Amino acid sequence: MNVIDLRSDTVTTPTNNMYRKMQVAPLGDDVYGDDPSVNKLEALAAEKLGKEKALFVPTGTMGNLIAVMAHTRPGDEIILERNSHIFLYEAAGASRLAGVQPLTIKGIDGVMDPKEVEESIREENIHFPATGLICVENTHNMAGGMVQPVENLYELRSIADRHKIPMHLDGARVFNAAAALDCDVKEIATHFDSTMFCLSKGLSSPVGSMLVGAKDFIDRARKLRKILGGGMRQAGILASSGILSIEKMPLQLKIDHENARILSEGLNKISGFSVDIDKVHTNIINLSIKDRNITSEGLVKEMKAKGILANPRGKDYIRLVTHKDVNFENICYALKIFETI
Ligand SMILES: *Cc1c(COP(=O)(O)O)cnc(C)c1O
Repeated sequence: MNVIDLRSDTVTTPTNNMYRKMQVAPLGDDVYGDDPSVNKLEALAAEKLGKEKALFVPTGTMGNLIAVMAHTRPGDEIILERNSHIFLYEAAGASRLAGVQPLTIKGIDGVMDPKEVEESIREENIHFPATGLICVENTHNMAGGMVQPVENLYELRSIADRHKIPMHLDGARVFNAAAALDCDVKEIATHFDSTMFCLSKGLSSPVGSMLVGAKDFIDRARKLRKILGGGMRQAGILASSGILSIEKMPLQLKIDHENARILSEGLNKISGFSVDIDKVHTNIINLSIKDRNITSEGLVKEMKAKGILANPRGKDYIRLVTHKDVNFENICYALKIFETI
């Protein structure tokens, strides 16, 4: 059976060009700073995001954790959105390993109210921790891949400047945000002191994420990566693919977004399914099955038996993610299957 995997864009496999580049990539020991492919990837990522330097890390989770560690001191408080990936899905690494306390703000579609952010910043007081960092997620995963409004980023930046607090962007899918806004990814990263983005999602590399920021920040981050066991040796095998991710794959994201729109529109024509189209900004769809007499778990099981993979999200929703390994024909086929459920 031909399986159509809509669980996540992390399931993407490398392109043929990526496999070819991996075989011929110049390699060295990256812990010594000797891997030409890693050095090239890091220079390219810094340039694309408009920052001084970049660091190649094995995962987005490690990139976010390193950013929190590099920006804060143990005992600080960090401000982040209630449904953010760092808060929900990183196994409390920031608390456990960076020693910081999260202060969460419930956003609307993942967007934090700047006024509430400002009110949450701690003054100097013997009882209080210091506010060490503000984190933003763009696109917002739990909000269904929604893009943060640009005005909101300006407002948060001006608050951060006023209080001299750094801002980190969990930009796992920041290239999706840039594709949706039809802007340069730099224009989003410019509001932040540091940005993490994933090569391993829609950008289709098998492994890896990038952390970008100012020179002194990345120098500290490099040491923290070593402490966490993320210093890799001939990592150029992976970096060579990462270079293609940045150079070639952003165009694919527009196709993924188009496919998500087509899939959403098709699903809305099937009785008992509904997608809020206005919230499908990028490649993630939260499909409501409230009007069906089935739980999300049950539906996902039935779909799996018919060759379509997806993840439940709560009991009333399933999450569908488009990516380069699901083409237009696959989308049409998936819609036919949905009609039979
Ligand atoms: C996937 C993701 C991460 C973490 O990436 P991993 O490489 O899976 O550790 C971080 N933040 C967001 C918003 C993500 O979607």
